Amino acid sequence: MKHKPRKRFGQNFLVDQTIIQRIVDSINTGPGQTVVEIGPGQGALTMPLLATGCDLHVVEIDRDLVTQFRLNNPVLLHDEHRFFLHEADALRADFREIAGVDNFKLVGNLPYNISTPLIFHTFNWRKQISEMIFMLQKEVVERMAASAGDGKTYGRLSVMTQYYCKVEPLFMVPPGAFFPSPKVESSIVRLIPHQTLPVKVNDEDRFDKIVKAAFGMRRKTLRNALKLLLDSDEIVAAGIEPSSRAEQLTLEEFAALANYQTQ
Ligand code: SAM
Repeated sequence: MKHKPRKRFGQNFLVDQTIIQRIVDSINTGPGQTVVEIGPGQGALTMPLLATGCDLHVVEIDRDLVTQFRLNNPVLLHDEHRFFLHEADALRADFREIAGVDNFKLVGNLPYNISTPLIFHTFNWRKQISEMIFMLQKEVVERMAASAGDGKTYGRLSVMTQYYCKVEPLFMVPPGAFFPSPKVESSIVRLIPHQTLPVKVNDEDRFDKIVKAAFGMRRKTLRNALKLLLDSDEIVAAGIEPSSRAEQLTLEEFAALANYQTQ
């Protein structure tokens, strides 16, 4: 049975063995460790990951690929006690429940069309995840790693990712490493959830709201962008200049805005 890659599921399958091996080496797993892979597709990363001896859970949404995987790997599915195939939507998945343990790595060549919401979803399990290694569109990795002053690359994804994780861009992957080739360059990134968060935030929902509102109107001054959440005097009292813009603010400054009134 030949599978026709589906655009709606972001299916660009890895075919370059050197790149596949580099990704698996970066994941750096082995016996006694649990790995959850998002979107195994046709198994490009799955098989070499399994060969490392780790316990592996894979989460795939495409029913046809799941069926194909079962047909092609009957021995794997019946005889291995360390391989588990979950037919599920990663955007709704409870990764702790899937992993079945309190310490695991989360990895995958992510479907690019849902990568940002998926990354936000993974932060819910930051306490159980020791590391995440993802393939993403190059620009998404650049956004995750950007700092205040980096212009429009710096945004909500940068602030929230760096609040929860240490961001380590690893290496780039050209379009020719996939079939079909995507129109964009890709990058591998390692995210290591912080054991101790880098800044103190009293109310994470408020922090998220402030960051979202500030970048939702990123060309406006904070005075205007945060109008519904803080007035000018409060922004000043939090130690921030109301005429500044979101892309000039560091993580610490966003935390100061969010903590104002909740101290
Ligand atoms: N890991 C394979 C590889 O590297 O060749 C496939 C990667 S492909 C970029 C993305 C995979 O994620 C596809 O298998 C796709 O069906 C799957 N996928 C897309 N959306 C998903 C979702 N919401 N939940 C789980 N899997 C999803």
